[in-house]
Amino acid sequence: DLREASGHLSFDDVTFGYSETKIILPDFRLDIPAGQTIALVGTTGAGKSTLAKLVARFYDPTKGAVTLDGVDLRELHPKDLRRAIVMVTQEAYLFSGTVADNIALGKPDATMDEIRAAARAVGADGFIQKLPDGYDTDVNKRGGRVSAGQRQLISFARAFLADPAVLILDEATASLDIPSERQIQEALGTLLADRTAIIIAHRLSTVAIADRVLVMEHGRIIEDDTPDAL
Ligand code: ATP
Ligand code: MG
Repeated sequence: DLREASGHLSFDDVTFGYSETKIILPDFRLDIPAGQTIALVGTTGAGKSTLAKLVARFYDPTKGAVTLDGVDLRELHPKDLRRAIVMVTQEAYLFSGTVADNIALGKPDATMDEIRAAARAVGADGFIQKLPDGYDTDVNKRGGRVSAGQRQLISFARAFLADPAVLILDEATASLDIPSERQIQEALGTLLADRTAIIIAHRLSTVAIADRVLVMEHGRIIEDDTPDAL
């Protein structure tokens, strides 16, 4: 499966507001080279999720453009956009169906071998095999209940299988026990390799693995540096 996009993402003087009277992002500029991992931090209401939603095209800019490899996202075919840019949000970790179904959402024609390989890559295969029906366990059925950390790992496997050029992740705020936290960090390392990523980061450990940390306030970037410089 060859990717068409390399993942160079750019906000070219983007202005956006949910209403005309309240601008959330004013003349916003940001250039993210292909392959870079960005940790986005900042106070509540700063505009982090809004920025992410513009990349996933839940909304379009009022002025200016978001571009992928120089092409305005509005000019991309919806199918190509979905293939190139994947957003993982904390609300939509799991859907009803089996564990395998949930992972396969990343690639509807995936084989069972590919589903397992994706789960292994993010370290989810071990606990999945221990579920009552393994990959066929219904995530909504009794016994199929998975922990918050396990849900995240399943959604990581889904994203890994989709293999987008750009990954947007709104990190869960729920606190995890230390082993799960470590497992999530390892999985993230695998998931982020070789693609552009914007993570709305709630964990210090995530900020630490980013190439670049952006601090947002009132729709503007007030700091832009490497994790150790901040
Ligand atoms: P948090 O850390 O709390 O998730 P955030 O940085 O993600 O905050 P956004 O969700 O992007 O912030 O919100 C930025 C601003 O836009 C806030 O003032 C918020 O109230 C407003 N806003 C967000 N979503 C909508 C919406 N759907 N309609 C109207 N206003 C919105
Ligand atoms: Mg948010």
